[in-house]
Amino acid sequence: MSASEEKEQNKAPQVPQVYAARTDVGCVREHNEDSFIAATPLFVVADGMGGHEAGEVASEIAIKTMLENAPATPNGDALVSAVKAANYAIIAGANEGIGRPGMGTTMTAAQIFDDQLFIVQVGDSRAYLLHEGTLQQVTRDHSLMADLIEQGRITEEEARYHPQRSVITRALGSDITVEPDLYVLRVTPGDRLLLCSDGLSGMVENATIAAILRENEDPQNCCDALIHEALAAGGMDNVTCVVVDPLKEPPRQKKKQGSWLKRHMAPIIFALAFVLIIAAAAGGFYAYAQSSYFVAEEDGYVCIYRGLPGDFAGIKVNWLEQQTDIPTNKLVASVASRLEKGVGVSSLQEAQSLIADYRSQISGGALEDDATGTDDASGSSAADSADSSASNAKSGN
Ligand code: MN
Repeated sequence: MSASEEKEQNKAPQVPQVYAARTDVGCVREHNEDSFIAATPLFVVADGMGGHEAGEVASEIAIKTMLENAPATPNGDALVSAVKAANYAIIAGANEGIGRPGMGTTMTAAQIFDDQLFIVQVGDSRAYLLHEGTLQQVTRDHSLMADLIEQGRITEEEARYHPQRSVITRALGSDITVEPDLYVLRVTPGDRLLLCSDGLSGMVENATIAAILRENEDPQNCCDALIHEALAAGGMDNVTCVVVDPLKEPPRQKKKQGSWLKRHMAPIIFALAFVLIIAAAAGGFYAYAQSSYFVAEEDGYVCIYRGLPGDFAGIKVNWLEQQTDIPTNKLVASVASRLEKGVGVSSLQEAQSLIADYRSQISGGALEDDATGTDDASGSSAADSADSSASNAKSGN
């Protein structure tokens, strides 16, 4: 055996991922005595009988035993053994006083591993395979009607209304030596398996069942439609369907088209993060502006501002802190021109010491400027004087 073959053999077989099931009490019966399993790779329909709820007990014992005993690997004989164990459990239960003596159940059990399909059959529940659009009945009913049809004594249509139509010739719960039938098949992509109780097959024609299996892609829709059809036809019995698409890949989780919030979570988080970052930046900038000061000219006088000169994206981030009585036109021209834009300082104290400095400049007046002793300074002084007179003229107005 090559390494790849060995690997292939050790690989767990694929089991169906796409399937659905549904059961309904029908329109006439008081109890639903059908039970089913849809737990891949095991699919079962069991139609209990015995009256006074005993049928429910029998089919439930059968289901429980199958869940405990069905093989975990492809093995038809082991599946037959599990069904025999279910038969034994029902008989043993009745002997112990569980349910009622004579209670029983049908059993149609299927297991699918890769393309291998095993079906074990006792009674008149059925397995059908839809293959390339054609419905094939896989199992043979263990019933009086099936025998009569095979002997050519009645037609299928006559069997549908025959007074003994529910007489079955083999069931679990009565005969310790019961021999289940085993069917081993290969399925191909596109095949669809249907297990059902006679509440479906006895009420709905095969052509209608086939059409529903073909037309409903989703197995759950398929089960719903089959049950609907059985009820519409009278629902004379409990009705159970299990639909399996053996080799079909499950649809990519369409993210469940969940809530609006779920679908938009990513962009919402992104937008929130963006807003938070902008808010944090704006908050930081605002705090920075709050702790900053500058000195600038306003209406001809030196003022202290908290904040930052100018504006940011059209928003002013400064507040008048203090207006002084120092006219800018009394200051040296270069200082006055700097004050038009604003002179940044690190604190309110620094702003006030600058104001004190300006005040000493104007009180010292020309003296200080003259003291520099340069032509430039004189020129500047002259200019200051000119400004000063202009200012005076203005204020005279
Ligand atoms: Mn039934």
